[in-house]
Amino acid sequence: MRKKIVAANWKMNLLQHEAATFMTSLSESSLSSSTGPDVVVFPPSIYIENLITLNTADVRFGAQNAYFKESGAYTGEISFGQLKSIGCSVILVGHSERRTEFSESPSVIKKKIDAALGNDFDCILCIGESLSIREMGAHLEFLKNQLLESIEHLNENQVAKISIAYEPIWAIGTGLTATVHQVNEVHDFLRSTLIDKFPEAGNNVRILYGGSCNEENANELFACLNVDGGLIGGASLDVNKFLKIIHAANEVSRIEH
Ligand code: PEP
Repeated sequence: MRKKIVAANWKMNLLQHEAATFMTSLSESSLSSSTGPDVVVFPPSIYIENLITLNTADVRFGAQNAYFKESGAYTGEISFGQLKSIGCSVILVGHSERRTEFSESPSVIKKKIDAALGNDFDCILCIGESLSIREMGAHLEFLKNQLLESIEHLNENQVAKISIAYEPIWAIGTGLTATVHQVNEVHDFLRSTLIDKFPEAGNNVRILYGGSCNEENANELFACLNVDGGLIGGASLDVNKFLKIIHAANEVSRIEH
C-alpha cells in the first residue's frame, strides 16, 4: 500500500506573519505521518528556515524551485546545496507555471531532477496537459512523453525518490476539477507507464492529483485507486481547509487498510 502525500504549494502567496500563523496552527494539530499521510509544505523559499524553527508538527518542507548548478554567478538563483543547508529536502519540479511563465524546457527540468537526486532530495515532478490537448484527445500520449522525457534516464533506485503530480493545466487555479473518471483514466495510465518502464519501483511511485483539489472534493479524488494524495494550491493557503484535506487522505487510507 502506498502512503498518501498531501502537499501545499503556496506559490507566491502569504506574507511572513501569515506564513508563521499558518505554521503555528498546523503545529497545534498533532499531525503524525506514522498514522496519517506524509505532509509537505512548499512555501516561498525565504520563509523555509523560519517555518522549520516554528514547526513542531510532523511536516516536511520543500522548495518550489531551485537551480541545477552547484554555485557561482547565477544571480537570483538558489542551489540545492543551499536549500539542504537550511533543512529543506523536497523539491517541486516541472510545475506548469514554471514551464509557461518561466519558459522551463524539458532539458532544464531533467537537469533539475538530476541535481535534486544528486543532493538526495525527494522530488515531486508535475506534468499536465492543456485544454486544447485534452480536447484533441491527445492527453495520454502527451502525458506519457512529458513523464518519460524527464525520468526515462533514471534507474530504479533513483525513480523511487520521485513522486508524480498529475496537474491538468485547465484545472489549476480555475475551480474546475477533473472528474473522477478523468482522474482514474490518467492515473491508471501513468501507473502502467511507470510499471512498464520501471518494473521494480513503478508500482511504488506515488502519483498525486493537483488542480482545484479542495476540502470538498479531496475525499472522492483520494479514493481513486492510483491517486496517492494531492498537490494543493489555493486551498492550502487556509490552514483549516488544508487540515480537512489531510483528514480526507487519512480517512481514505484507513478505509483502504
Ligand atoms: C498547483 O498549482 O499546484 C495547484 C494544484 O493549484 P490549485 O490547487 O490552486 O489548482
